[in-house]
Amino acid sequence: MKILSLKAREILDSRGNPTIEVELETHKGKFIAGVPSGASTGKHEALELRDGESRRNGLGVLKAVKNIEEIIAPEIINQDVISQNSLDQLILDLDGTEKKSKLGANAMVAVSMAACRALAAEKDVPLYQYINELFNQKREQPLALPRPCFNVINGGAHAGNDLDVQEFMVVPQADTFAENLEIGAEVYQELKSVLKNKIGPSAINVGDEGGFAPALKYPEEAMDFILEASKNKGLQEKIKFILDVAASQFFENGKYKTQMGIFTGVGLANYYFDLISKYPIIGIEDPFAEDDFDSWSLLISRLLPIRQAGKTPAYPAGRQVSKLAVVGDDLTVTNQQRIKLSKEKEACNGMILKINQIGTITEALESASLAKGYEWKIIVSHRSGETGDDFISDLAVGIGAEFIKSGAPARGERAAKYNRLLKIESELKQ
Ligand code: PEP
Ligand code: MG
Repeated sequence: MKILSLKAREILDSRGNPTIEVELETHKGKFIAGVPSGASTGKHEALELRDGESRRNGLGVLKAVKNIEEIIAPEIINQDVISQNSLDQLILDLDGTEKKSKLGANAMVAVSMAACRALAAEKDVPLYQYINELFNQKREQPLALPRPCFNVINGGAHAGNDLDVQEFMVVPQADTFAENLEIGAEVYQELKSVLKNKIGPSAINVGDEGGFAPALKYPEEAMDFILEASKNKGLQEKIKFILDVAASQFFENGKYKTQMGIFTGVGLANYYFDLISKYPIIGIEDPFAEDDFDSWSLLISRLLPIRQAGKTPAYPAGRQVSKLAVVGDDLTVTNQQRIKLSKEKEACNGMILKINQIGTITEALESASLAKGYEWKIIVSHRSGETGDDFISDLAVGIGAEFIKSGAPARGERAAKYNRLLKIESELKQ
């Protein structure tokens, strides 16, 4: 495949901050990619290059744009790109740093995503199909629709309320993506009414990911409102919860400072066990800080004997405990070294997959393959700052991820991903 041109520009993300869009042209057409951006980023993520000057509060991406147009483009224009691997390797060599600090992971991921779309078009296959072919070079994996996780109440770094838990995700349990989307949307709309009636109109203001951001303090309150809304719609048996605690955000000097009080890692683990015994929680993402491996391992070590023996735990626990997914995000940052370290320490049994945490499609697929080899659950994820780009939907199907999270079933940039999955599901049924 010959690349005819590669252009980049600074655009707005869903928070109104600058991000990158690239346009890569081949004889098959123009292929666009938009780069997402996190707010609660892990410190081990690859570097997102920002201009850091007074313009745009230091968040401009003109240096990254320049890196695409002046460093990457001259190396790939008019060259024959034979595969995703070779293109990504070329970008990695041009960067040559561990954290992608020369070119910026945001610059690199933009080119990697657009090239992936172009390579799929070159083969005349849908993007999810091409990603699946790439993934199958590493491990056999049939195409599969992920189960969506809808973030219906926002807290933490994504909202102006006191909730420590960043994301309260509703995970519908129906068999098809379309049914799951409908359940998520019904619960979301009913939650809007419940919050408005019980708390007042300001409770339905939304956070960065489109979930409501009511002035609540405690996780129990948030989940009670969601359960009430589900019950009103007769859907309470059809939903489960996954929480993204994003605990690095409130970890200070070895302690977890929350609205519920100050916890040690052990204390917080006890709190989770209590919560799991009361609510239908099937997963907790980032329950502890990104380098607090002891607490992560403690939680898992108390789950393992339960799972292996299939018997009543010697620890306060409810029906959900033996199946709980303990999911790394800031912990694992889609980085193979971090994933291996987390496995070594038995810190988690699931992980978030975010391409922009690592910088190239090839590396993200390698990370996913590693996680699958460990039999971890994978949640393909958006970022809190998004664009209309729906690449992650094809990615989730292509690697057969168990889950996808793309915020609430509302707001254009979030709905774009869910709507793309609807389309893929109907294509695959034909
Ligand atoms: C997350 O923490 O999982 C998330 C999507 O938030 P952000 O993009 O702000 O890191
Ligand atoms: Mg997270």
